Amino acid sequence: MPDGSPTATAGGAAAPEFPRQTRVVVIGGGIVGTSVLFHLAERGWTDVVLLERKRLTSGTTWHAAGLVGQLRATYNMTALASYAKDLFRELERRTGDSTGFMQHGSLLVAHTPGRWDEIRRNASMARLTNVDMEFIGPERLGEMWPLLNTDGIVGAAFIPGDGMANPTDVTMALAKAAKLAGARVFEHTKVTRIVGRDGRVAGVETDRGMIDCEYVVNCTGMWARQLAGQDDVVVPLHAAEHFYLVTEPIAALTPDLPVLRMPDEQAYVRNEAGKLMVGFFEPGAKPWATDGIPDDAEFLTLPEDWDHLEPYIVKAANRIPVFGQVGIQLFFNGPESFTPDDRYILGEAPQLGGYFVAAGFNSVGFASGGGAGRAVADWVVDGRPPMDLWEVDIRRFMPFQRNRRYLYERTTETLGLLYEMHWPFRQVETARGIRRSPLHDRLAARGACFGEVSGWERANWYAPEGVEPRYEYSYGRQNWFEPSAEEHRAVREGVALFDQTSFGKILVQGRDAERELNRICTANIAVEPGRIVYTQWCNDRGGVEADVTVTRLAEDRFLVVTTGTQTMRDQDWLRRNIAPDAHVTVTDVTSGEAVISIMGPQSREFLATLTDADLSSAAFPFGAAREIDLGYAFARAARTTYVGELGWELYVPSEFATHVYDAIVGAGEPFGLRHAGYHALNSLRMEKAYRHWGHDMSDEDTLVEAGLAFTAAWDKPGGFIGREALLPQREAGASRRLAVFTLDDPEPLLYHNEPVWRDGELVGWITSAMFGHTVGRSIGLGYVRRKDGPVTADWLAAGTYELEIATERFSASASLRAPYDPTNARIRA
Ligand SMILES: Cc1cc2nc3c(=O)[nH]c(=O)nc-3n(C[C@H](O)[C@H](O)[C@H](O)COP(=O)(O)OP(=O)(O)OC[C@H]3O[C@@H](n4cnc5c(N)ncnc54)[C@H](O)[C@@H]3O)c2cc1C
Repeated sequence: MPDGSPTATAGGAAAPEFPRQTRVVVIGGGIVGTSVLFHLAERGWTDVVLLERKRLTSGTTWHAAGLVGQLRATYNMTALASYAKDLFRELERRTGDSTGFMQHGSLLVAHTPGRWDEIRRNASMARLTNVDMEFIGPERLGEMWPLLNTDGIVGAAFIPGDGMANPTDVTMALAKAAKLAGARVFEHTKVTRIVGRDGRVAGVETDRGMIDCEYVVNCTGMWARQLAGQDDVVVPLHAAEHFYLVTEPIAALTPDLPVLRMPDEQAYVRNEAGKLMVGFFEPGAKPWATDGIPDDAEFLTLPEDWDHLEPYIVKAANRIPVFGQVGIQLFFNGPESFTPDDRYILGEAPQLGGYFVAAGFNSVGFASGGGAGRAVADWVVDGRPPMDLWEVDIRRFMPFQRNRRYLYERTTETLGLLYEMHWPFRQVETARGIRRSPLHDRLAARGACFGEVSGWERANWYAPEGVEPRYEYSYGRQNWFEPSAEEHRAVREGVALFDQTSFGKILVQGRDAERELNRICTANIAVEPGRIVYTQWCNDRGGVEADVTVTRLAEDRFLVVTTGTQTMRDQDWLRRNIAPDAHVTVTDVTSGEAVISIMGPQSREFLATLTDADLSSAAFPFGAAREIDLGYAFARAARTTYVGELGWELYVPSEFATHVYDAIVGAGEPFGLRHAGYHALNSLRMEKAYRHWGHDMSDEDTLVEAGLAFTAAWDKPGGFIGREALLPQREAGASRRLAVFTLDDPEPLLYHNEPVWRDGELVGWITSAMFGHTVGRSIGLGYVRRKDGPVTADWLAAGTYELEIATERFSASASLRAPYDPTNARIRA
């Protein structure tokens, strides 16, 4: 084995010696690994090494179709993808080598009114990101793409900034630029194991010996799960076969043809040096290599499968008749990795300190690799992500999601989902029914229509008798709108039951638990046992890392309750911030208790029929938690709410849950007890402007900006993390602030990402939204920015507002106060 291959040298210099020690080892020489390496070097971290098992690009990167699309589902993902075009130009400047980048734009075609709605909604989001987008009709589309049969096409969007580039050239340019900056690259070097010590990375073992290091970045694409699995690091991804065809040369193809994306017909098309390249995102994809990716795979191609692709080839030939007439020169089938939620995986693994991952790119890795590589490099150097990256954060995954059968089945769906309609509230259909509350079958018998979150099945709405609990998707009012409205009304006017078992429950206990938690929490949790405290956890910049309740169960025992998706992340935050020598343990006890919430003005009267406990406000005030008898069992009743009404969350040991549920439902009829689902919950919480972490706040939004400064105990002994950063903002006020918007027109629906206009100027966007059935209008939470001072109630009231939905603007009112019961009179009743 040579000591470094030719690519290990920079500008003809001698091959560097194989290192025994370095600061960072980047594993994998595809677009992502080389991007991480380049950007680490850019940040001045030049004591960094990239190890590639075979040759650079020999994994998935070499056969990427080279499409560089900027527009993604959200603002931050679009920002990462848009960076690619700047990077390509910069690489060409630095290295003098071509990246093959051509910016002829792309066309996104709608064949259905639903898709047209989707594109127009995306266009409004694009406005926030500086991605230009122009609508064109079928006629203009035909002029721009003369080989296209435009029959039945509703319209298209032209994105002039999109383009394509050569994946191999870009990867090589990244490696060269990184080496010019001082980084080192070693091909033909396989990492066999990561070595950990005291919970942190200590080095990597390779087939050329050991390298001591402080950080690794696993950029091994479809190999990432198996490499990470050796260290119990959870990287849920699975390879799938991914296809494109290349035709014989076609004389009529002009070199400046934009890339054509036709999601309704599952195809994309581009000019490949005078030939047509037609690629597919077909439903019912073919997972590949479930038992493990072969170790010796290099520049891999998989067998053709005409039968599998036939329906999509036929559709494409109908759209582009010349495609059906010329010969096919290449039927390409290559593997790419897909994740359970079609979003890639970035960040430091909660299982091992210093172990970073950048993998699972769901066929957008070429376009996103530049930005993702930069983000991970920044994350390594700064010890935190450079922006809110929660949607791709590795900590969103639960350990079960590395299950091979689960990944296999989900992968049949995820590849096609890329081009499927991205309907609001769309649910995955594969690998369902994995995490069920003890009440699941009972709720199903009541007509529950379940949605999936982190593997949990949660009742989103209840179908009335005679109606099938199935979604009928659209951008308008979906089939559950009215049933969910009735659930909402039951909570506001009577009493309703929610199953909130999917809450994450984290037990923090030990002699130092109070001291350590109090430093992490903004609120004062040094309260009497039996009190519930609503609090955030902030980082040292004052950004909100978590939004939880903390219940003091005993002197040395606290229960942190969070949402199901944040359970891993919040535990990670606790472990990172609890002093290493503190006498504190952190345990995930989610599975131990079901949570049955009884909410509504009649909840006290109703629950009183089931318990001997005194539920009066004097005996059981808001914010109290105590054990009460219920049926033949006991539950810990917590007087708290996310819906803005009188109510109790009942924490019931799992094995008692069905009994308690039966007792509750058995007594419910005289009170008209209804079952209510998560869609109603969302509508209710929006009316109260209750924030949702991950949407309405993140690690880059400060406590003051999020409007949650009231939770902080500013003067508690010892302070809290983030206090010093927040104090000046608390004094001066924030120039960016979360506000609540209510549309004037009761008809349009908000979903989130809608731009907010103030006096004709773009000032922010909606972070979460829902129709409020009591208010009778769509409500959205969103940040607004003021250029010349703090956002105050007066400044907000002085403006006129419009929210942009699918490129149309609708007038709205804005406030810092909740539209429903802003004084909280109802919850304290
Ligand atoms: C047919 C097809 C078309 C595509 N078209 C596009 C497109 O148009 N636009 C787009 O954005 N994306 C596209 N993609 C997706 C894109 O190619 C991938 O997302 C991207 O290349 C992934 O890059 P990566 O660096 O994560 O993985 P890879 O390129 O697979 O790199 C991982 C590297 O890690 C190495 N490795 C593995 N294990 C080890 C080990 N133990 N030690 C050392 N090295 C190791 C491998 O050898 C490999 O080189 C396409 C994919 C396919 C299959």
